[in-house]
Amino acid sequence: MFPANERRRWHGTKRECTFGDPRTTPTASGSCKSPTCGVCIVMQRSFHKEKSAPGSMFGKGVYTSGTSSKSHGYVKQVAPDRYHAMLMCRVLAANAKNLTQADHNLVAAPAGFDSLSAPGGGPSYDELLVCDNNQIRPLYLVVYQST
Ligand SMILES: [Zn+2]
Repeated sequence: MFPANERRRWHGTKRECTFGDPRTTPTASGSCKSPTCGVCIVMQRSFHKEKSAPGSMFGKGVYTSGTSSKSHGYVKQVAPDRYHAMLMCRVLAANAKNLTQADHNLVAAPAGFDSLSAPGGGPSYDELLVCDNNQIRPLYLVVYQST
């Protein structure tokens, strides 16, 4: 066990609908029912590392960044919309293993670590990923305009 260390990190994903837009009228549940709308799935049921894209840089995990522009790169707005949406998350990670090269087969943090990180620098941005779904929860849905 490690002492908890709560961090705030961005997570970008696909949004098939316009949930969260200022002009939309919320439905009873507030989100759409599509089984592939990443934003609504997270808002309804939190994160599931099993949903990470095959071939992801560091294997199966929930990927986050402290840099919003990094996470914006993973935002995919499907429904025609002037707005985009990104999640601000609460991440529990006290002892991250720094990774300097890709390992597509990781499914858990190595023994002695509770998370994985890529420190960024140069042209790349920082990443923090957790392999246990209980280490991350969505805090806010941030809706913004992007050019
Ligand atoms: Zn949706």
